[in-house]
Amino acid sequence: TREIHLVSRPSGPPLPDNFSLVETAVPDLNDGEVLVANHYMSVDPYMRGRMSDVKSYVPPFPLDAPLEGAATGEVLASSSADVPVGATVLHNRGWREHAVVPGSSVKTIDPTLAPESAFLGALGMTGLTAYAGLMYAARFAEGDAVFVSGAAGAVGSLVGQIAKMSGASRVVGSAGSSEKVARLEELGFDAAFNYRDGPVVDSLRRAAPDGIDVYFDNVGGEHLEAAISVLNAHGRVAVCGAISQYNATEPTPAPRNLSLVIGKQLTLQGFLVGTYADKAEEFAQKMAGWLADGSVTWDETVRDGLENAPAAFIDLLQGGNTGKMLVRL
Ligand code: NDP
Repeated sequence: TREIHLVSRPSGPPLPDNFSLVETAVPDLNDGEVLVANHYMSVDPYMRGRMSDVKSYVPPFPLDAPLEGAATGEVLASSSADVPVGATVLHNRGWREHAVVPGSSVKTIDPTLAPESAFLGALGMTGLTAYAGLMYAARFAEGDAVFVSGAAGAVGSLVGQIAKMSGASRVVGSAGSSEKVARLEELGFDAAFNYRDGPVVDSLRRAAPDGIDVYFDNVGGEHLEAAISVLNAHGRVAVCGAISQYNATEPTPAPRNLSLVIGKQLTLQGFLVGTYADKAEEFAQKMAGWLADGSVTWDETVRDGLENAPAAFIDLLQGGNTGKMLVRL
């Protein structure tokens, strides 16, 4: 079987040489463990942070060891009373074709509810991030005008659709190509723009002439500064991610207009999806309904083969995905 190791820490954008494909034997099962043949693994922006040797809310990945991350697959062998052979499970040992995992740490999923891959995205951590970030971190209310960056990505595309069907007065998205902008219009966004076409603040003002009440920030930097300028009084920002800065090698400047938060009485609420674990049940029920009745559309970009996982991750950070970036093993 094969696994991907991190062999050196990226400085700036990750490069193929930071990773290595390693042949190894399938480990034996200890009591309580299960052997999973992974079908899908997730690559996520947060993994970039874990590739650097800095203290964060999650520890760095060790070098010369398999990377980790969410994955789904089928249980081939089990010494756990709770997890039968043949079950489809979600667990955290991605970046490898076969995973040995404690039975207590896997989640059995019901593949009749949605395709297995959706549990790594719309029905999983990505979906909960979008839902809880919008509803709880940003305290969305009916009638709000919402702006989301990274809008053609996994989290962003869900934020826009959830806001729209929850009674937003206007939903605006930004993304990095004209194809992605066209996709946002198909998904029901009221306006969308390519952030590479000019200053974000100008594009945002044109797209939201009456201002915005909520900004869901996936990007940071110039986008956050533009949103602070365009937010209406008492506006709220869900600070979810700052992907424009993840490859930075120097400290990045704060928004130059930060003092506007005073007069406008803005709230900037950073959050981690884990903060809202208690909303997971409420979210899963709603999202399963939205997927079943077609009110949420779910895009995926799927790369094939474990050997292509590093490239999938590298491309994710450069916008090579529409919707959730996944690797099929
Ligand atoms: P996406 O599917 O959105 O993929 C990342 C996207 O970021 C790319 O497709 C690219 O799209 C965009 N991007 C890359 N560089 C830049 C840049 N310089 N400026 C603007 N956009 C850029 O990933 P996710 O949906 O998984 O994650 C979205 C954000 O949410 C990330 O910041 C992530 O870290 C964060 N996150 C936070 C969580 C939390 O608990 N707080 C949990 C999950 C995710 P484009 O072509 O449009 O540039």
